[in-house]
Amino acid sequence: MTLERLTTQAASKPLRRSDRLDKETLEVIDEVAEPPWTRPRAAYLHIPFCVHKCGYCDFASLAGADHQADRYLHALGRELELKLANPQSVETVFIGGGTPTQLDVVQLERLVTLTQDWLPVDSGGEWTVEANPNTLDLTKVELLAKSGVTRISLGAQSFQSRLLATLERDHDPDSVRRAAAMVAPRFESWSLDLIFGVPGSTLEDWKSDLETALSLAPPHLSCYGLVYEKGTPLWSDRHSGRVQALDEDLEYEMYAWTIERLAAEGLLQYEISNFARPGHESRHNLVYWRNDAYIGVGLGAASYQNGIRTVNTRDLDAYLKRVEAGLPATGPTERLDAESRARETAVLMLRRVQTGLNRVDFAQRTGFEIDRIAGPAIARGISRGWLLDDQASLRLSPAGVFVADSVLSEFLA
Ligand code: SF4
Repeated sequence: MTLERLTTQAASKPLRRSDRLDKETLEVIDEVAEPPWTRPRAAYLHIPFCVHKCGYCDFASLAGADHQADRYLHALGRELELKLANPQSVETVFIGGGTPTQLDVVQLERLVTLTQDWLPVDSGGEWTVEANPNTLDLTKVELLAKSGVTRISLGAQSFQSRLLATLERDHDPDSVRRAAAMVAPRFESWSLDLIFGVPGSTLEDWKSDLETALSLAPPHLSCYGLVYEKGTPLWSDRHSGRVQALDEDLEYEMYAWTIERLAAEGLLQYEISNFARPGHESRHNLVYWRNDAYIGVGLGAASYQNGIRTVNTRDLDAYLKRVEAGLPATGPTERLDAESRARETAVLMLRRVQTGLNRVDFAQRTGFEIDRIAGPAIARGISRGWLLDDQASLRLSPAGVFVADSVLSEFLA
């Protein structure tokens, strides 16, 4: 998986556990109304297979399970059938993982056909596929291009062998260059993911990574500070002292340099961790950052509609058995009350650095006035210089972007 979806997950509150989707929930999900926060116009499909499990990864991904890929694709088709009943056109599709391009060419073709059959993308819509450098070849790239995929998101993470080794990535810097050379001429829009704050890295390392990325001229870049996710090998290494996290000030310097350097190259920060040339923003992720409705299918995939978030099980065996038996693959279900949903919407909207939260738009979407439910958080953010308020909209200030997690968490209180 590349990292474009992490921010949405990070902004979500922990989910309550529930074994199955109850009847009432299914009925609510079946109701389709017009506004984008109730009617899904975006879809996510998850392919969990990876060559190798990276040390920092806590996504629903599996190494050594490729022999299950054909069965999994069949189950994905069944889940689409169960969830949608009929094909549903959408504005954006995002196929993520895992590593979708870990599938062989025949399986990849099956996946794109499944997507075209069940989730046809509107003319002018966006269809993204995530890819890892070592799993791409020209046949796969051309198959995706001719099938209507409009955007590739490539997981580069670093261009330095020693940092890739620390992250336990399975590719070398040259394979990122080779993959970018195949993707760039065939897709108008494509993205590179990079990670800063890797243990043992210096500001010079990060500057060098950014310069190398810029030399490949991607129209979109996602730059994330490394997160030590509980339960991952990297998290254990940090807690046992085998790995030293970078100093926070150094990470801030890296982030500050990212914003300044990418702006100078015309890649504008449109979300806390995402940068794009105008017109190349990820439309799919903007759906998450507006808290609009979306459908998710596959292992661990989340769906969100009418304030109800359902997440599929992350257990592959359970997923396959449940879907094959005609049952929902649902794991945790979170039913947000109206005010919690409004607060979450505020957090997500404020992540969009350029547009922020428009008061009228927010009130229409949620039924709440932002000043009524988050007045103290707004006042504190403004008085500390972290929020800007032009009466119509609230936005993170340039200083507020650096402390976004603490500024935004106050909106959930
Ligand atoms: S490539 Fe690595 S980070 Fe991405 S999903 Fe697979 S194991 Fe996780």
